[in-house]
Amino acid sequence: MKKSCGLWLAVGLLSWTLTAFGQRPAVPYFPDVKDYKTLVCDFHMHTVFSDGTVWPTVRVQEAEREGLDAIVLSDHIEYQPHRDDIPTQHERPYEIALPTAQELNILLIKGAEITKDTPPGHYNGIFLQHIASLDHPDVLDAVKAAADQKAFVFWNHHTWKGIDRGQWQDVQTVMLKNNWLHGMEVANGNTYYPLAHQWCLDKNLTMIGSSDIHQPSIEVPYTPQQHRTLTLVLAKERSVQAIREALFAGRTLVWYQNQLIGPRSQLEAIYKASVVPSPIYFSRKKTGFFELTNRSFLDLQMQRTGKNGPQQLTIPAHSSVSVKATLPDEAETLTLSYVVTNMLTAPDTPLDVNIEIALPQPAEAVTTN
Ligand SMILES: [Zn+2]
Ligand SMILES: [Zn+2]
Repeated sequence: MKKSCGLWLAVGLLSWTLTAFGQRPAVPYFPDVKDYKTLVCDFHMHTVFSDGTVWPTVRVQEAEREGLDAIVLSDHIEYQPHRDDIPTQHERPYEIALPTAQELNILLIKGAEITKDTPPGHYNGIFLQHIASLDHPDVLDAVKAAADQKAFVFWNHHTWKGIDRGQWQDVQTVMLKNNWLHGMEVANGNTYYPLAHQWCLDKNLTMIGSSDIHQPSIEVPYTPQQHRTLTLVLAKERSVQAIREALFAGRTLVWYQNQLIGPRSQLEAIYKASVVPSPIYFSRKKTGFFELTNRSFLDLQMQRTGKNGPQQLTIPAHSSVSVKATLPDEAETLTLSYVVTNMLTAPDTPLDVNIEIALPQPAEAVTTN
């Protein structure tokens, strides 16, 4: 009896400690890649200042709890259904949230959602100086006003009113030609947009993934399958300025339902940083055994494309698995060819990778005098 009381006291103290000091996850979701920090960002969410149901500071606390680096409170410019209780004040969500963000080390970026009928649709402007200046009836005037502030502008959830109303039209071509449009949401909440994915590749637009969360973010454990839709930004440092530079350079990946979506070179970089093979630790006749370690928060799913190695490999998030393969005759390297089916370089196109392991050379072991 005494023992269990002690145990409950310990549990109670532990939970008090966690509450008192915050609950930011200890291990980053994804490793940094060569030359860049991998920052976890959500550039699209709402508060009570438009049609959301939470106060701005709560968004910052949610971001800390979920281990995000940067957020944007992107309330609608043209739509405030709570206006009778909370009058239109476009600058206030950022101003209210900023002191909490500074204390909790969350990078807060000022932004808003330009909200027109679809078409032409909704556009987020981020890194804004003054949100009220974007309040124009015409979408091109609004987007130009954002671009005049050197903002990064992306087109949101393009098919939310159906595929016909989400088609690329002259208005987007005008934005693109004037360099007023810089990215597109490839995923928003529970929806992935293959057409937007392809347009980003064809038109050199930056790929964005966002939650577009309106309700409170419920306190549930993150799992590889269950997490916010987010953008990973490969930035030179952890700062607002570095995120801006990376977005204009297109260095992003979309993290959506246990998948990463992005330009090939960036997927290769995150794969190389995440998947680490060990040397062969045991061999029997022509069979060698090694470990593959996954330093990412994806449950990695791999499908063999070559002739050697297991046909399918699953490496759970932040875990290692043992793998066996046939050792080649007289080669210096064991090479296994796979595709990572949950890393997409284009719609329906998985990333192809080679797993390479240096083999011990018998000749080196022989000492000759
Ligand atoms: Zn919207
Ligand atoms: Zn929205």
